Amino acid sequence: MVKAVVGANWGDEGKGKITDMLAKDADIIIRYQGGANAGHTIVNSYGKFALHTLPSGVFYDHTTSIIGNGVALNIPSLFQEIQSIVEKGVPAPKILVSDRAQIVMPYHILFDQYEEERLGKNSFGSTRSGIAPFYSDKYAKIGFQVSELFDEAQLQEKLERVVAQKNVILEHLYHKPVLKVQELMKTLREYREMVAPYVADVSAFLDNAIKEEKTILLEGQLGTLKDPDHGIYPMVTSSSTLAAYGAIGAGIPPYEIKQIITVCKAYSSAVGAGAFVSEIFGQEADELRRRGGDGGEYGATTGRPRRMGWFDCVASKYGCRMQGTTDVAFTVLDVLGYLEEIPVCVGYDIDGEVTTEFPVTHLLEKAKPVFEVLPGWKGDIRGIKKYEELPENCRRYIEFIEERIGYPITMISNGPGREDIIYR
Ligand code: GDP
Repeated sequence: MVKAVVGANWGDEGKGKITDMLAKDADIIIRYQGGANAGHTIVNSYGKFALHTLPSGVFYDHTTSIIGNGVALNIPSLFQEIQSIVEKGVPAPKILVSDRAQIVMPYHILFDQYEEERLGKNSFGSTRSGIAPFYSDKYAKIGFQVSELFDEAQLQEKLERVVAQKNVILEHLYHKPVLKVQELMKTLREYREMVAPYVADVSAFLDNAIKEEKTILLEGQLGTLKDPDHGIYPMVTSSSTLAAYGAIGAGIPPYEIKQIITVCKAYSSAVGAGAFVSEIFGQEADELRRRGGDGGEYGATTGRPRRMGWFDCVASKYGCRMQGTTDVAFTVLDVLGYLEEIPVCVGYDIDGEVTTEFPVTHLLEKAKPVFEVLPGWKGDIRGIKKYEELPENCRRYIEFIEERIGYPITMISNGPGREDIIYR
């Protein structure tokens, strides 16, 4: 059985925690899109970890962790991540890297930086991990698959062609030092050494696993609103964040994905530029940021402060719909326990008309939030295991949101730990 764990919002919903929790009963966990640009924070008995490339199942010794073909693979970053968890006492994880995954090249990271510098105040707020240049090259058919590292003659020949083109841009657009093929070849040989022990035909492995009725988790990065087609284009990421893409980015039939668990945070946060209708500012935002997540709402990869907002029913309803949600996991609810009253965005006012349908970007820019204010529950809900034991106003908040988004909230996360979960 294949399940997907994906985000309804702008990312950072707590997917890592939910995947880590579900991984206990899974055999295989797969990353199928994105790269080392975002991260998951996971707290467990080994300590606190920020994972960027490895799936959130690496802490169990019964699981196989897979980097699918859809991922932007930063090989040194993967290698360092494996070392850092092993150093903290986690048993060496079983890892497979798809032979069809493409490699983030050192120049992708440079191009990401140079382009953001060139754009100045119009920049995308990229994490500068090379993701956009990577996916541009992939679809321009000048990317490098992991398998290509193993044929030196062909690799060098292709690299010469690609570098010739890159150097024109480096010299004439960015006025930066040009690339040298021999230096890149040396780096790629090092990459080959690092990745060689893990390379596999992942889709064949998964085909077998499905036949053997293994439990397989697809772990998404970011959330619906960062999808290049269905998100807030152009302030999006460069690979699809939807569960549907899991079939492609892992190499399995689409009809095998039976459960889609969409993670939805009890308030909003976002990183990078782009419209964010329910955003709040000043002291109100500072307090939520400081109390949010586990130790504050700061990027797991970059450490930058996240933009904060109240729960957005319009964005989340759309976010759940585009994922094909079967279950909503409602997370970080415990954080809201300090509030007397909790505003919830229930509609967007666009040129005087209120809508609950998430609009295209140019209309989104004009949308003003319509808030409804719910009473807070003023208390600590951590440690509670049964839905009925939650304070009445807390249940009212959950049920109000469930009704507005139209998808069943079957899991409620009331703390960062694996066991902090209420099933409904
Ligand atoms: P992801 O990228 O979707 O996995 O999300 P992040 O890892 O960026 O953000 C989730 C943060 O919230 C992490 O620091 C988690 O440890 C923490 N977290 C997850 N679920 C809960 C929860 O229910 N309550 C609290 N307080 N923190 C949580």
